Amino acid sequence: MKRREILKGLTALPLAGAVPAAASSTTTTPKAVARERDIFKELGVRTFINAAGTLTYMSGCLMRDEVVDIINSTSKHFCMIDEVQDKVGERIAQLVHSEAAMVTCGAFSAMTLGLAGILTGEDVRKVEQLPHLEGTGMKSEVICQKSHNERYNHAFLNTGCKIVEVETIEDVEKAINEKTALLHFLNITANHGQIKHEEWVALGKKHNIPTSIDIAADVPPVSNLWKFNDMGFDLVFISGGKAIRGPQSAGILMGRKNIIAAARLNAPPRGYTVARGHKVNKEEILGMYIALEKYIATDHDKEWKEWETRIAHIQNAVKDLPGITTKITIPELGNVTPTLSINWDDTVVKLTGREMRDRLRNGNPSIEAGFSGLPLYHYQAGSDSIDPAVAETLKGANTVRVTAWMLQPGEEKMVARRIREELLTASASKS
Ligand SMILES: *Cc1c(COP(=O)(O)O)cnc(C)c1O
Repeated sequence: MKRREILKGLTALPLAGAVPAAASSTTTTPKAVARERDIFKELGVRTFINAAGTLTYMSGCLMRDEVVDIINSTSKHFCMIDEVQDKVGERIAQLVHSEAAMVTCGAFSAMTLGLAGILTGEDVRKVEQLPHLEGTGMKSEVICQKSHNERYNHAFLNTGCKIVEVETIEDVEKAINEKTALLHFLNITANHGQIKHEEWVALGKKHNIPTSIDIAADVPPVSNLWKFNDMGFDLVFISGGKAIRGPQSAGILMGRKNIIAAARLNAPPRGYTVARGHKVNKEEILGMYIALEKYIATDHDKEWKEWETRIAHIQNAVKDLPGITTKITIPELGNVTPTLSINWDDTVVKLTGREMRDRLRNGNPSIEAGFSGLPLYHYQAGSDSIDPAVAETLKGANTVRVTAWMLQPGEEKMVARRIREELLTASASKS
């Protein structure tokens, strides 16, 4: 250790004055190590136990240790961004059974970039013209099922395209014209639309129009990483900062070689493009790759059992309290993880779901939990706030929802204790 570092370490010690002067000499090694700077505390930023899930507004996920290590070690060197994207893209493509892949700054970015690639091809003049499509000869429409037109499709609008909604196969056939750039599918609402995955892919092949699928939050199961590439979708979009536990500001675009090559032309390091703002640094590109590799190599059965054990622990702590009902469900699509709903009779427990959420948030330790009976994706789009129309239907929903996949080992004990405490307090306050 250098003398300067030792001195720095000493000033961070509360009892620095009590340390003998000899300790600052380079010949002795003081046992005390510099205390880590607590930037959250310094700035007054609240940290919390995340029992809610992989929500962007809660900073998504905690990166795997291996990812943080790679980010640290690669931050000490320069390299060419294109070279990193080339090499990482090849490896990712092998892992997910696609022709090609690139790291983007999230699934949303992958959607914009993938579509931009379709529109421009490898014509750099067109790349510079986006998002102005008129008079350029570029296509301008994306077709998707009405129930698949979620707010994230805004990513497509950024290229200047508009969305055309359809419901039936006949609708698709009618809607397709010379302006159709893409047929897009949203996996999370796959069961809400009439047209199924395979039919969607077949429509694309029949009309020679690329098909895409948004699977942003759809691992586990891990097999979804390759399932839709194998099925024949031309583009697949996924988030890096959800269950994969890569950088929150990263994602992956997988798909056809020619489209990915064209998407790369629209992406940094090139400037003057619609996606110049979608910059991903080398550390994150490499971190995303490592996260994916580690995610695939995870013992998924063991991880699932661990989530179940934690959820059962929380359930057991509250299920026998008066007025309480509990239920564990596994969403069929999207955020597929054991999810515990705790409901209460509000004549026994004087509390609303939102009040419970606030008490957990303001308690010690601070805990974030879901507070509505809605599927998580309804309020992960931006913030705490739910669409007012939807919020209305939640009145009287005395529910707290808990997932365990973003908990650190042992945190389930604190979550169980705190929820139990609040339920007991609220039922005692009645009498
Ligand atoms: C999270 C999510 C996105 C956005 O992904 P980012 O990686 O945050 O850009 C898009 N679509 C769906 C369905 C999502 O759940």
